[in-house]
Amino acid sequence: MGGQLSGYRRKRDFERTPEPDDETSENNEHRTFVVQKHAASSLHYDFRLEIEGVLKSWAVPKGPSLHPSHKRLALETEDHPLVYADFEGRIPEDAYGGGDVIVWDRGAYTLKADEHADPMTAYENGEIKFVLHGQKLQGGFVLVKTQQQHNSWLLIKKRDDYADTETDILSHRPESVVTGETIADGTG
Ligand code: MN
Repeated sequence: MGGQLSGYRRKRDFERTPEPDDETSENNEHRTFVVQKHAASSLHYDFRLEIEGVLKSWAVPKGPSLHPSHKRLALETEDHPLVYADFEGRIPEDAYGGGDVIVWDRGAYTLKADEHADPMTAYENGEIKFVLHGQKLQGGFVLVKTQQQHNSWLLIKKRDDYADTETDILSHRPESVVTGETIADGTG
């Protein structure tokens, strides 16, 4: 299950782009994840996983948690291009998604080794078990589709050495991992 990467590969010169080549998209290699804090009309965190050449994306209103008992609603949104993982800035207030965006966390993820080592299959099955290697988020997580709405998933920390039932990572580490800057929480 190598995926449909021929179009992705054809459009890019991997000597020149920092984007991952198709070798980094082989089964269970490292892929990009990013979490962007987005102070739109309502503050949320956009959680994105690289799957077959795009960033599959979920808006998480309460943001990710390190507490394994927290089931954070994650509403699937449209796929974003891989380069979006670099985006920080201010979207004009009258534009779609107007408000400030920072890269709140970024790194690589791998699928859990005991799972189907194909993220698209896991995505299509509505349950993606993965390990994050970020600056703030680390260890096992699962995204699981609910039966509530077509775009409704839950983001849950697995119980492992990186689980933390005491630290609110969102308030403890509010800053951009790119610039160290913070943004307001969307109240104005
Ligand atoms: Mn957003």
